[in-house]
Amino acid sequence: MQIAIVGAGPAGSHLAHQLCQRGFEVRLFDARPAWEKPCGGGVTSKALREFDFLRDGPAPKQMIGSLRLISAQNRELTVAPRAAFAIYSRRELAELMRQRAIAAGAQLHVARVEKSDFSGGKWHLETSAGDFTADFLVGADGASSVIRRRVGVKFEAKDFAYALGWHVRSPQTISRVDVKYLADLSGYLWLFPRHDHISYGIASGYQETTPARLKEILLAYIETQDPAAAREIRAGNGKTTANTNFYAAILPALDVSTWDHLRVCDPAQAWALVGDAAGFVDPLTGEGIYYAIKSADLLARALATRATDYDDLWRAEFGAELRRAAELSDRFYYGKFAGAPMIERMVQLAQRHRGIRDVLRDLIAGEQGYVDLKPRLLKSALLFS
Ligand SMILES: Cc1cc2nc3c(=O)[nH]c(=O)nc-3n(C[C@H](O)[C@H](O)[C@H](O)COP(=O)(O)OP(=O)(O)OC[C@H]3O[C@@H](n4cnc5c(N)ncnc54)[C@H](O)[C@@H]3O)c2cc1C
Repeated sequence: MQIAIVGAGPAGSHLAHQLCQRGFEVRLFDARPAWEKPCGGGVTSKALREFDFLRDGPAPKQMIGSLRLISAQNRELTVAPRAAFAIYSRRELAELMRQRAIAAGAQLHVARVEKSDFSGGKWHLETSAGDFTADFLVGADGASSVIRRRVGVKFEAKDFAYALGWHVRSPQTISRVDVKYLADLSGYLWLFPRHDHISYGIASGYQETTPARLKEILLAYIETQDPAAAREIRAGNGKTTANTNFYAAILPALDVSTWDHLRVCDPAQAWALVGDAAGFVDPLTGEGIYYAIKSADLLARALATRATDYDDLWRAEFGAELRRAAELSDRFYYGKFAGAPMIERMVQLAQRHRGIRDVLRDLIAGEQGYVDLKPRLLKSALLFS
């Protein structure tokens, strides 16, 4: 069977690798050579444990053993994950994963897929490198997926978050990550050190505020970390300068109701979606690299066995967790827990209680799920009070 995969990010490249290993003929299309996609590039210790090519692969990564959480009211807490997590440059991660797919037998075309039609039991693709046919089409083309729209899966504005930031080349050597929560906004800003630059970013609900306000909040924070970089960004009116690259992007943050009716595969029409195209991003943290790779694994398994339904597989594996994260999102940022947003209280309690600190540490490392978060928090609070 010939499979066409549109998008060679983590989801598409990993799917190509898995399908080639199972004997499928795979064409992988991406509009660009490996590129610095707007992303923190943070890969949790859970993801490193599960996917050894991330842990052991040749792409340079910065290993992080310390994370500083700063609440909206400037309460600070430094936690050390049980195992270090990694920060990748996305260009280098994409290169690693594409080469892995090619080595397994995938044909990579650096070409934009312009049009796709299903007729006579086959997909017909028009691309910037010519026309192709395939028996099965996979949309791995990211948050703004055209394949998702083509197959009729609808997301609304409430199903997205918005992020912007700057990659800064800086002589500073930083070996910790900062995550700072924001007053009156559902999101956070971050400092992620990479091996050759520092990634600063800020994310909030889509259209929750203006890009100008997000830029101002992030710049005020950069000023506290790297005044020279902040000055250069201001002098360049926020645009890309000699040492700074500006980026802005949307990312999926699906609403609870969208999780409830989401279907991302139709065997009769021979299509499926993986990664961001399917909306598989943690609505609370914005973590999507793990779910991109995991969903690719599950789709490869479903296509190989034919008897298994991909929609059942992803729902059982991580659907309930991501739906629960969406459910918690409002309470986490806005909901009152003893008179303050949940995250404010969690940081405050964690400063005093080791049990709560351990829960936060595991949550950030991807080791603590959302479905059993409340019982563990309550148990920890009782044990350590
Ligand atoms: C600012 C920001 C910060 C983030 N930080 C993190 C983080 O720290 N950790 C984390 O786990 N996740 C993070 N995420 C989420 C993460 O970036 C995504 O979940 C992840 O990249 C999804 O992988 P993917 O393969 O599904 O899609 P993508 O990585 O978006 O890849 C899609 C590919 O499709 C290609 N494409 C698109 N349209 C076409 C077309 N018509 N024809 C051919 N090719 C096409 C694109 O060129 C692209 O290479 C962040 C997201 C943003 C926006």
